[in-house]
Amino acid sequence: MAGLYIHVPFCKQVCYYCDFHFSASMRDKGRMVKALCREVEDRKAYTEASKLKTLYLGGGTPSVLSQEELSKLFETIDRVLGIQQMDEVTMEVNPDDLDKTYLEFLKKWGVNRLSIGIQSFSDQVLASMNRRHNAKQAIESVKMVQEAGFTNITIDLIYGYPGSPKGRWDKDLELAMSLDVPHISAYHLSIEDKTVFGRYLKKGKIAPVDESISEREYARLLEVTRQHGYLHYEISNFARPGYEAQHNSSYWKQEPYLGIGPSAHSYDGKSRQWNH
Ligand code: SF4
Repeated sequence: MAGLYIHVPFCKQVCYYCDFHFSASMRDKGRMVKALCREVEDRKAYTEASKLKTLYLGGGTPSVLSQEELSKLFETIDRVLGIQQMDEVTMEVNPDDLDKTYLEFLKKWGVNRLSIGIQSFSDQVLASMNRRHNAKQAIESVKMVQEAGFTNITIDLIYGYPGSPKGRWDKDLELAMSLDVPHISAYHLSIEDKTVFGRYLKKGKIAPVDESISEREYARLLEVTRQHGYLHYEISNFARPGYEAQHNSSYWKQEPYLGIGPSAHSYDGKSRQWNH
């Protein structure tokens, strides 16, 4: 058994490009945590044959959970499946959810890898995506995480974004390199039907980015990351040696995993399962 994935389906704000499953209402957070804990208990047998090596809390935005809510979740996972023996414990976080106390709390529970949803360092682009942080918060969050002693950090960036200010992607890459994080996930924007951008596209309010821009930005991504010592080890992922994501890499190696939560999938080595 490779890993355990927990889907935390809440976000404080709807990003206009996002087609993940989540709720922007926080009303049911407590009930959802209870349900996640119960599912961990119920699915214990799925993992019994082997030891879990990685835990990944994704979303949604797991960092919208309070310390109290996370404590309940971590306590259950640790008791039923064990966290302390895991090699990699990743949590997705939003820049504006972080402070020193929260980071210390995460460390205490064994979180040793943080994935920060930055997407861009351009205030204009962030506002047009309806992200809830700005560029200053993005930069400060990385520094805060580094000062808190986290070394295994990844940031998400989006390129191929229509209507970007001139030179935006080059500047984003430059800033990302200056932050000296060991892992970067860079995704080309795809406009999905059931999103705000999908509706904008139908109404002609936006158009997909020109292919020549996509090509140029992708080439620049490969060039800059190579120059700074990152290995392009997976389609959208770049890591300094030794910082490749263990949890996500196990999907590509077809290792079994258990998914908990409304939109999580599981794989037992033969077939996949998911919740209705
Ligand atoms: S924070 Fe992440 S999951 Fe939530 S709406 Fe934005 S992109 Fe989607």
